[in-house]
Amino acid sequence: MLLCMNCSLNQQVKFHETIVAEGLMKRAVFLDRDGTINIEKEYLYQAAEFEFIPGAPEAIKLLNQGGFTVVVVTNQSGVARGYYTEEDVHNLHRHIAVELARSGAHVDEWLYCPHHPSGRGSYALPCNCRKPLPGMLHEAAARHNINLEESTMIGDKLADIEAGRAAGCNTILVCTGYGTEEKQHAGPETVVCDDLLSAVKYLMKSSN
Ligand SMILES: [Mg+2]
Ligand SMILES: [Zn+2]
Repeated sequence: MLLCMNCSLNQQVKFHETIVAEGLMKRAVFLDRDGTINIEKEYLYQAAEFEFIPGAPEAIKLLNQGGFTVVVVTNQSGVARGYYTEEDVHNLHRHIAVELARSGAHVDEWLYCPHHPSGRGSYALPCNCRKPLPGMLHEAAARHNINLEESTMIGDKLADIEAGRAAGCNTILVCTGYGTEEKQHAGPETVVCDDLLSAVKYLMKSSN
């Protein structure tokens, strides 16, 4: 079949306009993992070491009920550094998903960056997914038809906030994990909440 490039492009643009106009694009909340959902432990990969920050499952459940697409976006340079493997990352995410399910909560997509500039072999690539770059947010947006301007990034580091801003999202810095230190360096425009649950409550209140 022959396709006219111009026509198919126009159709795509029209399709995009239609889904925006009809409100079919989704609102997402991008969540950092370590220090935001779970207690920060350097290079965590073992399920036995995993501990939720109190209120985190409830926060995610509130987002699910609120119709938000929940996407975890986590830098896992421990893979590039050879501390653990991508399989370990997947196994831990499966464990977290099971734990969340006990609270009736779920994550719609788990994205991680295994790279680091000084990492090993193929993981040493300069990538666009390691936060503060917004690659993971863009990938999720394309995959799930997410309207980034209507979405929010929540994390405990300024790298999370920068990634969110670079993608055009709203952002909230939480004071768990590295957040208490990081907020000293945050600009006055940065929204800061105590933890994930208070961030989600703030977000739901301000988005109504
Ligand atoms: Mg973190
Ligand atoms: Zn990466």
